[in-house]
Amino acid sequence: MKIVIVGGGAGGLELATSLGKKLGGKGKADVLLLDRNHTHIWKPLLHEVASGSLDAEADAVGYRAHAHYNGFTFKVGTLCGVDRDKKVIQLAALFDDDGEEILPQREEPYDYLVLAIGSVSNDFGIDGVAEHCIFLDSISQAKTFQRRLVNQFIRLNRDLAKTNIERKLNVVIVGGGATGVELSAELFKARQMFATYGLNNVRSEHLQVSLIEAGPCLLPALSERISSAVYTELKELGVNVNLSTMITCAEKNALITKDGTRFEADLIVWAAGVKAPDFLRNFGGLETNRANQLLVESTLQVKGDSAIFALGDCAGCEMVGADGEVRWVPPRAQSAHQMASLVAKNIRNLHLGKPLVNFEYSDYGSLVSLSDFTAFGRLMGGISTGSLSVEGRIARLAYVSLYRMHQLAIHGWFKTLLVALSDKINRFIRPRLKLH
Ligand SMILES: Cc1cc2nc3c(=O)[nH]c(=O)nc-3n(C[C@H](O)[C@H](O)[C@H](O)COP(=O)(O)OP(=O)(O)OC[C@H]3O[C@@H](n4cnc5c(N)ncnc54)[C@H](O)[C@@H]3O)c2cc1C
Repeated sequence: MKIVIVGGGAGGLELATSLGKKLGGKGKADVLLLDRNHTHIWKPLLHEVASGSLDAEADAVGYRAHAHYNGFTFKVGTLCGVDRDKKVIQLAALFDDDGEEILPQREEPYDYLVLAIGSVSNDFGIDGVAEHCIFLDSISQAKTFQRRLVNQFIRLNRDLAKTNIERKLNVVIVGGGATGVELSAELFKARQMFATYGLNNVRSEHLQVSLIEAGPCLLPALSERISSAVYTELKELGVNVNLSTMITCAEKNALITKDGTRFEADLIVWAAGVKAPDFLRNFGGLETNRANQLLVESTLQVKGDSAIFALGDCAGCEMVGADGEVRWVPPRAQSAHQMASLVAKNIRNLHLGKPLVNFEYSDYGSLVSLSDFTAFGRLMGGISTGSLSVEGRIARLAYVSLYRMHQLAIHGWFKTLLVALSDKINRFIRPRLKLH
């Protein structure tokens, strides 16, 4: 039995590790993980990579070595199509930085295919967004933002040395969800560091961060109490928060709103929502929803093909909310984690000839971290039957533990403990901000 998992992210890498240990390493199946990148970084950390507070190289997991120690195989490749009759996926040709071909377009056969390719930012077709805004969908995009931020600070430092003119660096972030809110706070931490690390003409006030949200509140998925607490905290930090502000066009250095207001910007980040990659709309004739997610049965097999599973952000999985309304399982790390566990179980059941089990999403709450300043959240279940609002150190601890749970799923207890220890040591021996 050959199991091909495409996408080694929050869900896919956990699944490959689990199946590798339970089937691949024991010779019961071939488990192959494919990803377009060579290394994995947990996506909720990307805003920290973007601000420079996390060094992606130091935190990344190399797929090849991880596969070697966990009973599966890794191949680099970008999925672009499927032939469901022949049971093969198509991978795009791979080129190096100079445009030289490394691998031609090729095919990979499967008995069971799992799609875990995540999501991309949704520009909602708004003019100029794709050309002029930076998205935070991948390590390379987060690094691009970080490099441009450093370069802009160096330019600002140069200009401030030459003239007495007070100039500011304007970063505008569109989208008041977790990514936009967390990045705003990270940038405020970073600006203190820039002023400290030798750019002598720059003071922290020289970075102006504006956050733009089309809806009437920040973090609409969280409670009103948390939303307004986060709003107050960001305002106190100095973020220029603009609610009910609809962007209709993006230019090279500006965003224009529905009522014609211009937001001048040196850097623009677009984090206003996600969709599954567009090519899934024509993926082997499989059904998708408006967000391009592949529709799945409750077993997480895609509708119309029991040999293909989908999980995480690219899966359109219906659930009944506490209010009785049918909605989609939210595109979040905890959904990907829970779905990966269920797909691992179902593939093992297929192998053993046992019946498949159904997915039930459990909402363990939501947490948002405002960098080192504070954190807010709502934890579900546990000792309390309802939800528990947390903030400050407890919320921050719960937030960090989300990442530790992911590390636990891929590394096990011992290595996760060592990684946590090395993170503590790195806080002393590495600079607090990446400046190159
Ligand atoms: C900045 C940021 C902050 C976030 N914060 C939170 C948070 O605090 N809490 C939370 O719950 N969620 C958060 N999220 C959302 C969370 O990261 C996602 O819901 C989660 O990562 C989805 O997991 P996944 O396995 O579906 O996809 P991903 O983790 O995105 O992994 C997809 C993988 O597929 C690979 N891939 C993509 N396309 C192809 C292709 N064509 N061929 C081959 N490989 C491909 C990618 O390289 C990647 O490795 C955040 C997201 C971002 C961007």
